[in-house]
Amino acid sequence: MSRRPIVVGNWKMNKLPSEAAAYIKEVGPMLVQYEGVDTVLAGQDVLLDAMVYAARNTPICIGAENVYWEDRGAYTGETSPAALADLGIKMVIIGHSERRNYFRETDEMVNLKTLAVLRNGLMPIVAIDEAVQLESSNDHAHWIVNQVVESLKGVTEADMANVMLAYEPTAAIGSGQAMSPEIAQKSLWIIRQTVADMFNQAVADNLRILYGGSVKPTNVYDILSQPDIDGVLVGDAALDASTFIELVSLA
Ligand code: PGA
Repeated sequence: MSRRPIVVGNWKMNKLPSEAAAYIKEVGPMLVQYEGVDTVLAGQDVLLDAMVYAARNTPICIGAENVYWEDRGAYTGETSPAALADLGIKMVIIGHSERRNYFRETDEMVNLKTLAVLRNGLMPIVAIDEAVQLESSNDHAHWIVNQVVESLKGVTEADMANVMLAYEPTAAIGSGQAMSPEIAQKSLWIIRQTVADMFNQAVADNLRILYGGSVKPTNVYDILSQPDIDGVLVGDAALDASTFIELVSLA
């Protein structure tokens, strides 16, 4: 079992193409010294070309924040997974809680996108969210299990080597208030057990699961010290280049 730590910066809709290139030029050379940690930056589609170009010869992997579930075709305004792969994108965040909440993405859509991403040789980072009202209720485990099962329908055991999951409690996203690492660990444990039940223990043991929600330099160490938390998905704190480097150095 080897689960390399991973830090994924999710820029959301915040950066301009010119800012993206400058950021990566600053961060890229600094990250070479942290070769034990995988680093990913995810940006909105209009940045991806510039991001891939700027990240050449750096350890940074570039990811997309969303994708459509058909490979290509007459779907005006959507993003083709085949085009992402052709551009040099390696990962795609799927089912982020902002997509689920603002754009009404359902588990079924998340599942179709996950399958499309895998079909095109990309790695999905499938986000599992948790609605505010369910925290600390008995529905909590059921909610999480259901999302994992629905999102991974039709994914094969072999595919699972290329899948990552991310647990993102809605209340912690963008609030400055991360969930306590011990409580997050409980949810990640449930996620890993669900994957063991769906596939087998080896698949679960090799799966990287991330935590996302107000990760900062002050809490990243404690979060990553939990046994089932292999990485972090970072929004606000990843907008600043030096903070991103700090996070990677602490991971
Ligand atoms: P945050 O966002 O770090 O700003 O809370 C995390 C995310 O939405 O991925």
